[in-house]
Amino acid sequence: MYNKLADCHIHTEFSWDAKHPVEEMLLSGIDKGLGYMCFTDHKDLDPNFEGTSYYDDSAYTDSVNAVQKKYSDKIEVFKGIELDCQIELMKDARDFLDTYSFDYVLASVHVVRHEFTDAELFYKYPPELIYREYLDEVLALSQTEFFDILGHADYVKRFGDSFLKFDPQAYGEMYEKILKNIIAGGKGIELNCSGWRHDPEECYPSEFILTMYKKLGGELITLGSDAHNPHVVAYSFERGAELLRKVGFDGVYYFRERKPVKIKFER
Ligand SMILES: [Zn+2]
Ligand SMILES: [Zn+2]
Repeated sequence: MYNKLADCHIHTEFSWDAKHPVEEMLLSGIDKGLGYMCFTDHKDLDPNFEGTSYYDDSAYTDSVNAVQKKYSDKIEVFKGIELDCQIELMKDARDFLDTYSFDYVLASVHVVRHEFTDAELFYKYPPELIYREYLDEVLALSQTEFFDILGHADYVKRFGDSFLKFDPQAYGEMYEKILKNIIAGGKGIELNCSGWRHDPEECYPSEFILTMYKKLGGELITLGSDAHNPHVVAYSFERGAELLRKVGFDGVYYFRERKPVKIKFER
């Protein structure tokens, strides 16, 4: 077992697609031996989505503050956000972040052509087209300054893989540009373990991309379960930490008031 790790990707009832209270998720994290938890409820920006108006910052902040106080002797808790990013909504992302404050900003691409990158989208368009447009979105995001960590950098494979296996090597040049931007901007990526319980049965991003990030000089990395229910908080963290060590990382980070703090791996 590793020392107290940080789960930096967790959803609660304040996300449109989750329903468990902050405290329930937190108790699971304490149970699993985490030292730190950062909640990252969704904020969608696309006016065409139902979920866009769902986010309630004051209720979310109150809940996180309450558990922070109540369990301060057991775990450290942080308030983050998972911001859904699209090229044409970058100004909205900045406006949102100017309005509310967070310890941690996780920026993710879930949408291409104003639709979630789920199976339906792959029935409509060729997978190569979706993959390319997804990576255009990620590249544009990597050129911005407003976030801390890029979320699940090859999430498009979650539903795409059953249509055409997403081969990161085929997009190696694109990933090199993206990762260089991330590093030059003082930002990082996450190892999102949820892919191991999704259809690709492979973490986000794949080992190929993690290795490239490390070789290019990447250092900032977080671990996230992307839990939407308490059972999967800290899901596969041992496996994730092992993979990161294999690739050459000696620890992971969490964020306090937008500043990275390192946790060195120790047994
Ligand atoms: Zn996400
Ligand atoms: Zn998420």
